[in-house]
Amino acid sequence: MSKSRTVVLIAILTLSTVSALAQDQGDPTLTEVWEPEPPIVIPNASGGPPSDAVILFDGSDLSAWQSRSGGAPPWKVSDGVLTVLPDTGDIVTKQGFGNVQLHVEWRTPSVVTGGGQDRGNSGVYLMSRYEVQVLDSYENRTYSNGQAGSIYKQHIPLVNASRAPGAWQTYDIIFRAPRFHVDGTIAQPATITVLHNGVLIQNHVVLQGPSIFIGQPEYETHRPMEPLLLQEHDHPVSYRNIWIREL
Ligand code: MG
Repeated sequence: MSKSRTVVLIAILTLSTVSALAQDQGDPTLTEVWEPEPPIVIPNASGGPPSDAVILFDGSDLSAWQSRSGGAPPWKVSDGVLTVLPDTGDIVTKQGFGNVQLHVEWRTPSVVTGGGQDRGNSGVYLMSRYEVQVLDSYENRTYSNGQAGSIYKQHIPLVNASRAPGAWQTYDIIFRAPRFHVDGTIAQPATITVLHNGVLIQNHVVLQGPSIFIGQPEYETHRPMEPLLLQEHDHPVSYRNIWIREL
């Protein structure tokens, strides 16, 4: 080996020894980060609202909601349960939301009528536009991107975690709102993660635009905060324990 190569080799060995020693003997506090300190949130029992949640429905009343046209919400509250009244229209929150964590419990009718999309159909629309499908998908085949837990006509759920009709089910949703350029074109599309009955079914998928029945979705600019919407789709689907956290 030439003299210069020997020198380089010794230098490399020395450096690697120094670096190993630094890791063994260095100061571990140099890699500790103390600020900011996360705010304290008091968690609740499984499915219950944590201390910083906005309660949208706790079984008592619909004071957080209104009809699409702004009047009193037309759906029924009975025994702590909110039920869609067919042919009365969707309901929306009075408050607008952007980036959120959302918990919703829902139940399709125990008496099964119809099939495919015509069975326990409702929907949770983030920002009144982006639908997580609510459907009785227990032994009820329909198009995969329209079954329960689909991002309607955009993303098929990873698995079908549906419970039987009449059983309460949960959605835990993490949603990032889209952002628009000043000229109205999309700057950052919306993303969504969904757990259905605690099972991951949508893993940070990117939305192509609002949920539409026919054709390809395209973004249209909207406000950074928009109401949450629950869909009336002819079926008496029930809801309870709805809460949301702004992120
Ligand atoms: Mg629907």
